[in-house]
Amino acid sequence: MASDDDFSAEGRCTCGAVRFRMTSRPLFVNCCHCRWCQRETGASFALNAMIEADRVVLLQGAPEVVDTPSNSGKGQKISRCPTCRIALWSNYGGGGGRVRFVRVGTLEDPDRLPPDIHIFTSSKQPWVVLPPGTPAVAEYYNSDEVWPASSIARRKALFG
Ligand SMILES: [Zn+2]
Ligand SMILES: [Zn+2]
Repeated sequence: MASDDDFSAEGRCTCGAVRFRMTSRPLFVNCCHCRWCQRETGASFALNAMIEADRVVLLQGAPEVVDTPSNSGKGQKISRCPTCRIALWSNYGGGGGRVRFVRVGTLEDPDRLPPDIHIFTSSKQPWVVLPPGTPAVAEYYNSDEVWPASSIARRKALFG
């Protein structure tokens, strides 16, 4: 894997009022097949790049934060463009404000961040065929067992 310094990725909402840059690789990319993500996307799964909040830099505009129920019951805060309302990233209850779940589809080149793992495959829509070679779990997972060492170190730096 390339070093963090080599990677940056820009993203935006549909109307272009909000633009941002991820300043390093994400910690991990989850492809979530839970029913909540299916409802929130209106589709079959959500693709979320987890990254430290301070590695997401606003280039233009200011997202509006919308309190939204979540599967865990702890709630999530979805940051949306105040004009077109497209969701750019979420913060979940557990991670507080320190980790953002950037919606990979908002990046200019989303092809650069394929899933590192498929989660909640117990509710995967049956026509979605998962590729061999990418880990997949019925529900959630323990990041200590799955994340690369560099991401675990970053998480420890963040949460102590
Ligand atoms: Zn917009
Ligand atoms: Zn989900």
